Amino acid sequence: MTKKIPSLVVAVAVLLSALPAFASELVVYSARAEQLIKPLFDAYTAKTGVKIQYVTDKEPVLLERLKAEGERTPADMLITVDAGNLWLAGEAGVIQPVVSETLERNIPAHLRDPQNRWFGLSLRARTIVYNTDKVKPADLGTYADLADPKWKGRLLLRTSKKVYNQSLVAALIAERGEAEAEKIVAGWVANTPVEPFSNDAQAMEAVAAGVGDVTMVNTYYFGKLMEEKPASPLAIFWPDQDGSGVHVNVSGAGITTHAKHKEEAVKLIEWLSSAEAQSLFASLNMEYPANPEVPADERVAAWGGFKASTLSVAKYGEYQAAAIKLMDRVGYK
Ligand code: FE
Repeated sequence: MTKKIPSLVVAVAVLLSALPAFASELVVYSARAEQLIKPLFDAYTAKTGVKIQYVTDKEPVLLERLKAEGERTPADMLITVDAGNLWLAGEAGVIQPVVSETLERNIPAHLRDPQNRWFGLSLRARTIVYNTDKVKPADLGTYADLADPKWKGRLLLRTSKKVYNQSLVAALIAERGEAEAEKIVAGWVANTPVEPFSNDAQAMEAVAAGVGDVTMVNTYYFGKLMEEKPASPLAIFWPDQDGSGVHVNVSGAGITTHAKHKEEAVKLIEWLSSAEAQSLFASLNMEYPANPEVPADERVAAWGGFKASTLSVAKYGEYQAAAIKLMDRVGYK
């Protein structure tokens, strides 16, 4: 009996090595939380039989892991949030270009990498939220207006350490030039009465509590807060409607440079960009579908329509270093 085990092991090994190299399993590294990806992966597995393993962690951790693993990485795909992060992954060489007519058709050009290394899959607006007891919509206009002295002591900010505000400032630089962007951001800092908050929810809670009157946050955080605390005296305002439009950003994905199952991984991204998956992808986090053919979830649509900026989100990466330096120069902590 004991003699037979080695031959059985050999037989199984021979059998496995003889299997065709198709992917019955994909590995995804995701900076998007498990509850936002698992329902999609489950649906994909049910449809195709392709199993998906995933690792979730913070963006910098996953990026370092991909760099350290190099060719040995088991990851086929990286999912993360913010074009600034996707751009960094592209620059680090851990994701590779993908030629896909489906992705080019489903995802607008300004929401994907000009070099096709990453593709936006959901859209979030970084917009103004104000205290409805203290501010009328007519008082508001643009991101730049929040630098006006009339907002002295009334504007609350999230920390400049978070990529979301780095991308917002990068967009200001790309659209208006560095000197004008610096004036605006310096004005914001001058108008804020307290240290910047570590997250969007805290900034909004402080606006609701009267610490300040207005802040800038990602739309899905507003949605979540209002579901938890519907009586909060908060509302959304869409800035820059006569100008370049509301600042939008993406969550998105790319195929890793050393993917072992590239073809299958491309099929997964293509499916994620399809009408079938986009509603679920966006609504799981109260975001907007990146595919313009797909309507937003009714909770999100209830915030009203707006004109969104069509600046290429890749610019947020290109100007990220300049944005960080600018925020540092004006004392934006
Ligand atoms: Fe977020």
